[in-house]
Amino acid sequence: MSSLDGMRTRAVHGGRQDLGDLGVHAPPIDLSTTYPIPDHALGGEALGAWAEGAADAASPVYARLHNPTVARFERALAELEGTDESVAFASGMAAVTAVVQAACLMAGKRHVVAVRPLYGGTDHLLVTGLLGTETSYVNADEVASAVRPDTGLVVLETPANPNLELVDIAEVVRQAGDVPVLVDNTFATPVLQNPAAQGAAYVLHSGTKYLGGHGDVLGGVVACAARLAAPLRQVRILTGAVLHPLGGYLLHRGLATLPLRVEAAQRTAAELAARLEGHPAVLRVRYPGLGGAEGAGVLGPQMRGTGAMLAFEPAGDPHAVVGKLGLITPAVSLGSVDTLIEHPAALTHRLVGAEAREASGVPESLLRLSAGLEDVDDLWSDLDQALRAA
Ligand SMILES: *Cc1c(COP(=O)(O)O)cnc(C)c1O
Repeated sequence: MSSLDGMRTRAVHGGRQDLGDLGVHAPPIDLSTTYPIPDHALGGEALGAWAEGAADAASPVYARLHNPTVARFERALAELEGTDESVAFASGMAAVTAVVQAACLMAGKRHVVAVRPLYGGTDHLLVTGLLGTETSYVNADEVASAVRPDTGLVVLETPANPNLELVDIAEVVRQAGDVPVLVDNTFATPVLQNPAAQGAAYVLHSGTKYLGGHGDVLGGVVACAARLAAPLRQVRILTGAVLHPLGGYLLHRGLATLPLRVEAAQRTAAELAARLEGHPAVLRVRYPGLGGAEGAGVLGPQMRGTGAMLAFEPAGDPHAVVGKLGLITPAVSLGSVDTLIEHPAALTHRLVGAEAREASGVPESLLRLSAGLEDVDDLWSDLDQALRAA
């Protein structure tokens, strides 16, 4: 396999290079917590290498230092994002935490610039200052003026959670200057967008969403250059925010079908968005490329498709709409095989607060929908009857 292979080929074959030598077809799940070290001199060298952030060493030594099953997923994801390496974590939030710790705290910086809106958990983590950082929230065109000498990281999400606003990554990277930019690529997935190609230093995924794809695995991952991956692995060893090998296995397996799932769900989302726009009980639809969508200029050069997430404002009570649905699952999270809907103001973005939500373009009544793999007409019947009944 080469880096010139197509996305679907890389998705199927990535991270499987050692399986032939092992004589197996499915990647083994290595559940060992410790590894025999008959030669303690060599074992000590390996431990020292891991502690320095090495990507490989003679023995895993101990499961918090390294796991071969997780490492296969990391190689596969890095190939999809076009980066040297990737580093997996116990959850998307553990991944966000590790990037702040590596980019800010390990570098002696205390300031973060964040472009709103962001995932509610990321927003709240930065607001609380729990990690010892201070955060300035800005619009995408205000990043340059917010950067200070002690700024260690710029954080953005595109398409943004939950209103699908698009941000020009290369433009924010330009404004950030020497400061590394973290792009949360959870919504777009590597199938539709590779932020590293636009200059992002860190590309983050909540693997819990599209990468796993079946709503049964919690995990996070950061794709980046080798020199940035080493400190992330050091943080992971010290804080213990490791991904369980079973999670690594499931995320790796999820990657094989990722392009097909995203392409299918995207077709459905585009169709639902168009139909919702013509519905008498819908005030406004947010979907990349639809009339009035913010930042639509980056479609094409930055984002290769419009994605499988959409949001809309019903004319009636959003909770009544959700309550009338039968097929569509009322739940937080996204990127699963089934279609999910949720009310950000009540759930995912509750802790952001009404004022900050409104200011960042997230109206009170907005509903967020993650298109799944069902037949689009069945989804439409469900949405249509719920909107009419509410
Ligand atoms: C869910 C999510 C996260 C957090 O990931 P967890 O795996 O739940 O910790 C971060 N960013 C985005 C965009 C998300 O949707």
